[in-house]
Amino acid sequence: MEDFDFENRILDPSEIALDNEGENPLRPRTMNDYIGQEKVKENLSIFIEAAKRRRETLDHVLLYGPPGLGKTTLAGIIANEMNVNLRITSGPAIEKPGDLAALLTNLNEGDVLFIDEIHRISRAVEEVLYPSMEDFAIDIITGKGQMAASYHLPLPKFTLVGATTRAGQLTAPLRDRFGVVLRLELYAPEELARIITRSASILGIEIDPDGALEIASRSRGTPRIANRLLKRVRDFAEVISNGVITCETAQIALDKLEIDELGLDANDRRMLEALIKFYRGGPVGLETLAAAIGEEAVTIEDVYEPYLMQIGFLNRTPRGRCITRAACQHLGYDIPNAQDAQISFD
Ligand code: ADP
Repeated sequence: MEDFDFENRILDPSEIALDNEGENPLRPRTMNDYIGQEKVKENLSIFIEAAKRRRETLDHVLLYGPPGLGKTTLAGIIANEMNVNLRITSGPAIEKPGDLAALLTNLNEGDVLFIDEIHRISRAVEEVLYPSMEDFAIDIITGKGQMAASYHLPLPKFTLVGATTRAGQLTAPLRDRFGVVLRLELYAPEELARIITRSASILGIEIDPDGALEIASRSRGTPRIANRLLKRVRDFAEVISNGVITCETAQIALDKLEIDELGLDANDRRMLEALIKFYRGGPVGLETLAAAIGEEAVTIEDVYEPYLMQIGFLNRTPRGRCITRAACQHLGYDIPNAQDAQISFD
């Protein structure tokens, strides 16, 4: 089994951490700078405007979609447009109910609390979250046995913005407590090209429209990847074409980075090839596939699959994952002997 290749991974966790560290100049601050996701922006703008007119806090918002699509960014924009502070945390960081209580009691009226990976909070924390979302109060129990005492602690009214890769992972009672549920979609290449052009101008990189579109079409519908590829292509452009990113320099750079014209990297190819070679195209269960390529099932589900399904390379069936004819053709393989009727070669 191969070790996981962090060098080649376009969505590596350290990059995500960097993204959220301190001031990220590429992160849009206002709704106007936030490119794409028109439906989400339109709805959210109305809810924000209505809340402001009524001088109320915004209802709790749940954002879901694959990583890197702009959920954290949107939480920042909500806080900005509502003129309140933003506090950022994540599900796994809130270990005990007391951690959540400390966070909540430190909020100011109207603040936005952003909980990333909210599906990963523990049951015990979730129990405290319910009343705080609904009644803006928590009950704290101190001591044990006869010494136990319960305090009812009112909280400032706040807006919880939760982010998750899949809304289905949330328990129903938690999901039901969000007044606004918005799904972020993968971006079209034209939208990503606009994001890349905006980022290039912030970073002082010269790029022509074809260069931007070339990077965009290999960014798997994801702004975080688009920005990351832009920075890497810039390095090549500085060496091979006076720093200007054209279609040609972008192509050369991305080929060198082993990102193909559809945006697949070495790990996508490894996964698809495993499906073809070991499982005759599928169906194969997620866990089995994950073990075969030495990857976590959740990474496959959250990072690889959304894009592979969007471009019609992979199908999820009740019996497991199946590769498609288009994927085999793209990778230059014969279509495996599809014995099983489950395999859908469109
Ligand atoms: P998520 O929280 O969904 O993982 P982020 O909000 O951290 O994603 O977005 C990743 C990066 O992509 C941000 O730093 C930002 O620069 C960029 N980005 C995301 N969405 C947009 C957008 N709609 N317009 C411009 N840039 C965006």
